[in-house]
Amino acid sequence: MKAGLVYDPIYLEHDTGDHVENSRRLVTAVSSLKEAGIKEKLTCLPPRPALLEELEMIHAPEYISYVKSKAEKGGGWLDPDTVMSPKSYEAALYAAGGLLVAVGEVVKGGMNSAFALVRPPGHHALHDRAMGFCIFNNMAIAAKFALSKFSLNRILIADFDVHHGNGTQDAFYADPKVLYFSTHQYPFYPGTGWMDETGTGEGEGTTVNFPMAAGWGDEEYLRAFNEVLVPVARRFQPQLILVSAGFDAHWADHLAMMRVSVKAFAQMVMILKNLAAELCQGRLIFTLEGGYNLRVVSSSIKAIFDVLLGNSEIDDPLGEAEVKKAEGFDGHIRKIKEIHHIR
Ligand SMILES: [Zn+2]
Repeated sequence: MKAGLVYDPIYLEHDTGDHVENSRRLVTAVSSLKEAGIKEKLTCLPPRPALLEELEMIHAPEYISYVKSKAEKGGGWLDPDTVMSPKSYEAALYAAGGLLVAVGEVVKGGMNSAFALVRPPGHHALHDRAMGFCIFNNMAIAAKFALSKFSLNRILIADFDVHHGNGTQDAFYADPKVLYFSTHQYPFYPGTGWMDETGTGEGEGTTVNFPMAAGWGDEEYLRAFNEVLVPVARRFQPQLILVSAGFDAHWADHLAMMRVSVKAFAQMVMILKNLAAELCQGRLIFTLEGGYNLRVVSSSIKAIFDVLLGNSEIDDPLGEAEVKKAEGFDGHIRKIKEIHHIR
């Protein structure tokens, strides 16, 4: 079972200082993969910078040149949450380009699956502005690239970051070729992602939002995956599955209030891996979005590679949340199933 790792030290050069989204997230993750002996089992996929015309599949040319000039002037704040250093533009080009390399390898068949350990993250980035630590929408660019370059017609993007991927939803809201599925805390940043946001025009029904109440955890996430994601994916028949992997829904991540464990992230990935095997020759690509507890991020990434490599033992050094809460979940999932005509 071949799994690829996209990584490059350029991702550390997006220097955000003591911001929660900082280079230590990747440094810790990569060193724990080395220590666990996993890195040597992976195929290294060196990233390339995304081309302008590739970024322009999602972003406005004026926005791209604004980011570039901001970097040339030494960086600064793009929005109240998103900061740039002089090398951030270059890092952002390689972050998007890293996903494009992964798409090429996985779609052409050299690789079953790949994980792009990139930063800056992408799922909040909009057509013409940065948002929520994100500069360019790496996954949205990757999906557009897969549609145009490899003539695919159906791509599933699953997003289990604790925040709603408003940028990704926006990019494909009217596009029937991309099914966007997201689990996220709600109400919460960025404010979007209620269950009645289902797409528009030809894209009606290809946006599937699964908002989660603060405090829900493993069982609720796994039921959302098994009872909603699996049937909608089977109905949609994707040719490629892309995953926006954020680990900020973990109980020990204090940016949000969900109670997911590392083991449950691994189980969610197992569901995605089985779907990919059943529906699209195993084609499965992950990208790193959020996740701000370093131990959670590194153990979750390690657990995901264990799943991708077929290792049966999943190590969860942090264990499960002590307090669990599921009030209201049954009625909630029933409503979502009704909206999406899942029996
Ligand atoms: Zn997040």
